[in-house]
Amino acid sequence: MSGDEVRAARLLHLGVEGLSKGAARSLPLVQTSTFHLPGDPAGVPGYGRMNNPTWEATEKALALLEDAPTRLFPSGMAAIAAALFATLKAGDRLLLPSDGYYTTRLLAEDFLAPFGVTVETRGSATFAEGGFDGFAVVFIETPSNPGLDVIDLAATCAAVRASGGVSIVDNTTMTALGQRPLDLGADIVVASDTKAPAGHSDVLAGHVASRDPALIDRMTLWRKLSGPIPGPQEAWLLHRSLETLEVRFERMCASAHVIAERLAAHSAVANLRYPGLPTDPGHPVARRQMTTGGFLIGFDLADEATAEAFLADCPLIDPTTSFGGTHSSAERRARWGDAVAPGFLRLSIGLEPVEVLWTAIDAALAR
Ligand SMILES: *Cc1c(COP(=O)(O)O)cnc(C)c1O
Repeated sequence: MSGDEVRAARLLHLGVEGLSKGAARSLPLVQTSTFHLPGDPAGVPGYGRMNNPTWEATEKALALLEDAPTRLFPSGMAAIAAALFATLKAGDRLLLPSDGYYTTRLLAEDFLAPFGVTVETRGSATFAEGGFDGFAVVFIETPSNPGLDVIDLAATCAAVRASGGVSIVDNTTMTALGQRPLDLGADIVVASDTKAPAGHSDVLAGHVASRDPALIDRMTLWRKLSGPIPGPQEAWLLHRSLETLEVRFERMCASAHVIAERLAAHSAVANLRYPGLPTDPGHPVARRQMTTGGFLIGFDLADEATAEAFLADCPLIDPTTSFGGTHSSAERRARWGDAVAPGFLRLSIGLEPVEVLWTAIDAALAR
């Protein structure tokens, strides 16, 4: 029985403690901006930018999965912005992966740099070499999106701490069920819950988690003062989705492993990346820090036209950006300017029964 299993089971029974006889079993959707508040306002919900019982329940569920205090945000980027603005000040140096989620780099270059933060980037593969002296914050993403390079979290977070910096780990591609950065020494975890946690391609959300009370307080203050609070409806949908995350994640990752093995052996496919395969350069570290290889697969087809034709020909792969939904999806990341080959596809495996999915992929590759 793993800790993940125990947390997944407890998640399904959260919120029952305080119920009175005859109360609704499901989470109430409290759609309000303000609360009845005569007299002394201490200790009760006051205003929707500070409290809302629905998003607080969703935070509680995420906090259970993270095993750490957690704050919910209306998108992954809002969570990342909170972590960066809460930890950086003028004169600081920030290190970002050059091959991670590109919007994080744009945010830093367009908004942190003009306020006097020096933004530097480096390939994920070089993080193992250390060299973090003088960085106030080191931002880590593993497996990286879209290249799926794996960074050793325990070693990197320890090296950042030894240099006096704060480590922020973007755990979007694995979720708290697949990888536990806080257990491996990270100061802050950030994640886009738009992906597998919400999982139905209908909600944007994100969260931060940290076991350092000063850091959580600072990110909470950022949210309260700058205003990126989740809507109750979105929080309610995420809360509902979290109840099935464990079964969805298990199916997605198990299917991804099967599909990755078969794609790796296919003559039309080159440079396949899936950290769950023993042949992947990230596998030795992935085995230590990830519970599965994940549900994302990266690979090259011959060129742009071949990759676009594959997407057009495979009815069980949605051509969408984003990932982690119930349906399998893929995209040619070079269309956004990512530093990948023109025929590179990032494939996100969904919930389709795996043999049906493989038959569709195999047929589209043959055309
Ligand atoms: C999608 C994504 C984000 C941003 O999340 P949004 O919910 O779209 O704001 C951040 N990091 C990674 C790794 C992502 O894949």
